[in-house]
Amino acid sequence: MSMEPQTDERRTTPAACDVLIAGGGMVGAALACALGDSELRVVLVEPVATAPLLPGAPAQCRVSAIARASQRVFAAVGAWERMLELHDGQGRRESRVCAYRGMEVWDAGGPGRIHFDAAEVGEECLGWIIENDVIQAALLQRAGEFANIERVSGVAVSGIVEQADGVEVQLADGRAWRAALLVGADGANSQVRRWAGFDTAGWGYAQHAVVCPVRTALPHADTAWQRFLPSGPLAFLPLFDGRSSIVWSTTPEQAARLLRLDEAAFALELGEAFEYRLGQIEAVGERAAFPLRLQHSPQYVKPRIALIGDAAHVVHPLAGQGVNLGLLDAASLAEIVLQAHAGGRDVGGLQGLRHYERWRKGDNLLMLAAMDGFKRVFGSSLAPVRAARSAGLLLANAIEPLKRLLVRRALGLSGELPRLARAV
Ligand SMILES: Cc1cc2nc3c(=O)[nH]c(=O)nc-3n(C[C@H](O)[C@H](O)[C@H](O)COP(=O)(O)OP(=O)(O)OC[C@H]3O[C@@H](n4cnc5c(N)ncnc54)[C@H](O)[C@@H]3O)c2cc1C
Repeated sequence: MSMEPQTDERRTTPAACDVLIAGGGMVGAALACALGDSELRVVLVEPVATAPLLPGAPAQCRVSAIARASQRVFAAVGAWERMLELHDGQGRRESRVCAYRGMEVWDAGGPGRIHFDAAEVGEECLGWIIENDVIQAALLQRAGEFANIERVSGVAVSGIVEQADGVEVQLADGRAWRAALLVGADGANSQVRRWAGFDTAGWGYAQHAVVCPVRTALPHADTAWQRFLPSGPLAFLPLFDGRSSIVWSTTPEQAARLLRLDEAAFALELGEAFEYRLGQIEAVGERAAFPLRLQHSPQYVKPRIALIGDAAHVVHPLAGQGVNLGLLDAASLAEIVLQAHAGGRDVGGLQGLRHYERWRKGDNLLMLAAMDGFKRVFGSSLAPVRAARSAGLLLANAIEPLKRLLVRRALGLSGELPRLARAV
């Protein structure tokens, strides 16, 4: 049992709900939508008040590569159409989604390269690049349309008191709920995880990712490009407006220096690091940097509490899998909670929550280990490792069934999928 000091005099008697979701990021908002239109009373608490995203808004610096399984979840909960077309209510419309059909990966330390083409592996596309704010705004807007979901915006969860038949959840403004199930969707630095007493295992990568939108002289060709440099991978992801969004993983010192450079000097260094594959860098948008780490909570659940998304696991972004794993957590947990409710069982009961943990932990750990392995193999400057990775890439490039297998994994179509992520 854990408790924060109760100093706020505005505290009120807690209202009752079935599920309280702490965190309305992409993953928490998706869970709320997946529980929409049910008999459950759901409360979604998000401290950052988000404004609706309108057509013409400048491209955001944070984007995600969205896999087929995640797109199915968005479509199933009724949020995909909104991402495909933002509108301002006055006839102005804009699609902010870019489907990518090719992926080109090559090694700065040798001849190794691999190319994926959607048509070659019998797929329509390999995924979609979408701004995080667009995904979050579409999901939050959709969540607000369900009568059984109450959205609480602009205030954080500030403490919890665990009891046998519920969790009392306190908000920073003095309000409180009593929830049969509390879901921590509050990101990598999850306070719910801390209050629940769950440990984390992992390590920092001594790498920061510099991100920003850029305009290149040559078209991006609906292709996601990634070059492995000794200091980390550099990706160019295609955007809806013809620009690309870069994710440049490098040492913290180098990242800080890259942020300080003026636009022309940054464009020059970036172009060189990318071997000018898309020609000169003609314009650079707002830059930001994020520290990278691997983190996993060995425990996702206890009676009445569950973690999803980055609160449970943080993965290196080199293959764009973090939010995709989190969305599958959300869809799986929703399925289990709805089943429990339909069967007259307690939605916060440990039996169902354990099922969720077993279901998702194996998949998440496998991806964490794979990304960690990739990061290490591609970060090594040892000659035998360089030779082996070049040979590995060239071999994988030549074997069609292996490529098909890799694409299915990247599309999130392997493993036991929750109902919302299956083909209709
Ligand atoms: C550079 C970079 C590139 C990436 N690219 C990709 C990619 O291409 N594809 C991909 O799948 N993944 C990618 N990821 C990973 C992805 O961004 C994360 O996995 C994803 O954002 C996690 O979403 P989340 O909703 O779990 O957590 P978050 O996005 O961290 O959201 C947590 C939410 O909780 C709220 N919150 C915090 N504290 C509280 C509180 N006390 N009470 C209530 N709410 C609270 C926050 O305001 C926030 O909205 C990338 C990551 C990085 C760093």
